[in-house]
Amino acid sequence: MTPAEPGEALIEVALPLPLFQTFTYRLNDAVENPVAVGSRVVVPFRQRRQIGVCVRLNAERKPGTRIRKILDAPDPEPVIGADLVSLCNWIAEYYVAPPGVALRLALPVLLTGADSPRPRPRTRRILRITGDPPSLLERDAIFGRAKQQRALYEAIESLGGSTTAEHLRDQLGFSPAVIAGLEKRGLVAAEDEVVARDPFLSRRIAAAPPLSPTPAQRAAIETMSAAAGAETFLLHGVTGSGKTLVYIELLRAVLNRGKTAIVLVPEIALTPQTVDRFRGAFGDSIAVLHSALSDGERYDAWLALKRGEKRIAVGARSAVFAPVRDLGAIIVDEEHEASYKQGEAPRYHAREVAIMRAHAAGAAVVLGSATPSLESWVNAEAGKYKLLRLPERVAGGTLPKVEIVNLRRRFTGGNGSGPPPVGDYERTISPELDEALHARLALRQQSILLLNRRGYASFVQCDECGYVATCPNCSITLTHHRTPERLVCHYCLHQEAPSATCGRCGGTTLRQRGVGTQRVERMLGERFPAAGIARMDVDTTSGKWAHVEILDRVASGEVDILLGTQMIAKGLDFANVTLVGVVDADVGINLPDFRASERCFQLLSQVAGRAGRGPKGGSVIIQTRVPEHHAVVHALTHDYESFVAAEIEGRREPAYPPFVRLANIVFSAVEEEAAMELAASAGEWMSQLLVAGQVEGITLVGPAPCPIERIKNRWRWHLLLKSVQPGALTRALRFFAERYDPATATAQRRITIDRDPVSLL
Ligand code: ADP
Ligand code: ZN
Repeated sequence: MTPAEPGEALIEVALPLPLFQTFTYRLNDAVENPVAVGSRVVVPFRQRRQIGVCVRLNAERKPGTRIRKILDAPDPEPVIGADLVSLCNWIAEYYVAPPGVALRLALPVLLTGADSPRPRPRTRRILRITGDPPSLLERDAIFGRAKQQRALYEAIESLGGSTTAEHLRDQLGFSPAVIAGLEKRGLVAAEDEVVARDPFLSRRIAAAPPLSPTPAQRAAIETMSAAAGAETFLLHGVTGSGKTLVYIELLRAVLNRGKTAIVLVPEIALTPQTVDRFRGAFGDSIAVLHSALSDGERYDAWLALKRGEKRIAVGARSAVFAPVRDLGAIIVDEEHEASYKQGEAPRYHAREVAIMRAHAAGAAVVLGSATPSLESWVNAEAGKYKLLRLPERVAGGTLPKVEIVNLRRRFTGGNGSGPPPVGDYERTISPELDEALHARLALRQQSILLLNRRGYASFVQCDECGYVATCPNCSITLTHHRTPERLVCHYCLHQEAPSATCGRCGGTTLRQRGVGTQRVERMLGERFPAAGIARMDVDTTSGKWAHVEILDRVASGEVDILLGTQMIAKGLDFANVTLVGVVDADVGINLPDFRASERCFQLLSQVAGRAGRGPKGGSVIIQTRVPEHHAVVHALTHDYESFVAAEIEGRREPAYPPFVRLANIVFSAVEEEAAMELAASAGEWMSQLLVAGQVEGITLVGPAPCPIERIKNRWRWHLLLKSVQPGALTRALRFFAERYDPATATAQRRITIDRDPVSLL
């Protein structure tokens, strides 16, 4: 490297390409805008224009390289603050992603196109009367026979002298020609006014009476608000303990200090009530980064945050990149949720990114949950995070009583006499749950039923040979759906018409096994014809605001029984819900994944927490075939700490998080052989790296086939790296990503690196 010549002005640019290096360019005198770290630049790359981000000024010249000039710099000032540039660089480094790809996380989609890098704001045309209004006599003279123009003039006058062109056209029916005519006479002037695109402006929120915090809430609020600089809090509060109020009071303290904040929620569409409460408390200071926003709406929210017009960003994981300045706090609600991990590169975990960002900004982080992840819990025990507890429900509320119904004893006979002759409904809804539902309907109280399996039947099986219909592209059974009748793969969305005969033996007695939400909805409809029943799962919530509509119907009392998948387990707060039933607690409990039990416990605790949130109290019925499983046993008593004590023992040997850090490298190819060979060669390369002593303290597991061996037509193998030293993992992964050269790799073969994976399936 040699220093740049004086006046040469070289910069480093990160481009959104699957490449780990950055590129050097020369500034261009013909480009007007100044370039700083975080500015976008349009550059020539190979034969194309690319839009990248300047990551360094005064770059050094690499000898022997031809350095080209930048073509354009669209921003008068950097679009990404220097703090976010370093945050994205950390993500690129830690999660082993190309820097230009990581930087995209900090940009709204509208700013990522190379051809039209300046988005247009949304405007509306306003017509305003100019000068003093003419007298009636003058009007006769001015308008003469132009009656329409006079009517238009007088309409604007009656609306206070100005209105939108849209209103005149669409509501009052004036033609564009008449409007243009009036403008031409100079009697009205038109101007374009910039409007922020904010779909929440139309959703009304009831003003909530201010609550006064309980002593436990107050203690938590005071500790957090007094935090000097960067500190991480783990707020362990049982369901219904009033965590949201604690967040709100912390946010108030942050705003009062002139700072800004970010609130992360697992999935914003699922938590309209929580979002409404923040909006109720802070109104216009909040930007809600809803997944249903259009690119334009998202851009406007981004701009308002960047300019400081909005000072709190609420959103799902990507909101951690909100361009706020003077950050005072980041709240991560339901911090244990898997949705905080991004499933594609860069595979970052928003909770970890939040901690990094807050740390650099000297801000506080609050991780809130009734069922914290084991990782966070262990960090709190080690004193890395400060543990704050809300051990009780607010206002004298008690946690609901939980009852277990053991399905195993009931339907497997066990004494050779075979199961009793029962129908579909009885097999699915036990007499206990049935009776409880009846009782709620009679009292006009509401029930929530969880079944974490959508579709009609979970699989179709041949009675003669036992064959189960599976996806041709994935090693996954096909789920039977009704309306329309089809077999669907939930991984690749492959669909086929159900066949009347077995695909293997040609037998004709195909049976549907395992119920899904569609089927239970139908059973409930037959059983309780007068009840209002709503189903909430991926299939009923494809519309933008579908979740809100269903939940609004629950709030209004129109729905007596809300049936759904895990979507209904979080955040819902309805005082009239006094019963929660778990139709089948065992879905997922036996998945070959080290977090399967933890997930199951979290889901059961969360959904149980929906019951009895009002003065009427509530109860929970869990149906299971494994009542002795620790995830079920401790959900019964709402005992998080006992669950952790039991679960953590199983993570010691073989070691899994929180005892070690993991990195999962997945190899996939269309041919089984190719995936296997790729994994073997990479495994060999990696073990040589370790043997050579280049990196120490890493255990290699595999290569082995992934638990789900095939997804979307690709065979999958994986290699697992374990270490107690994060730095060692970073080094090994970067060596691998930058230097491993699979001679046989083609577009057909893929390697993905998943650091701190949330699942190993
Ligand atoms: P969590 O998120 O911990 O499950 P929420 O924040 O949803 O609990 O609060 C549960 C319910 O208690 C909400 O209806 C909320 O309005 C109410 N609540 C919270 N704090 C108080 C308080 N200090 N006094 C009265 N009601 C409260
Ligand atoms: Zn499939």
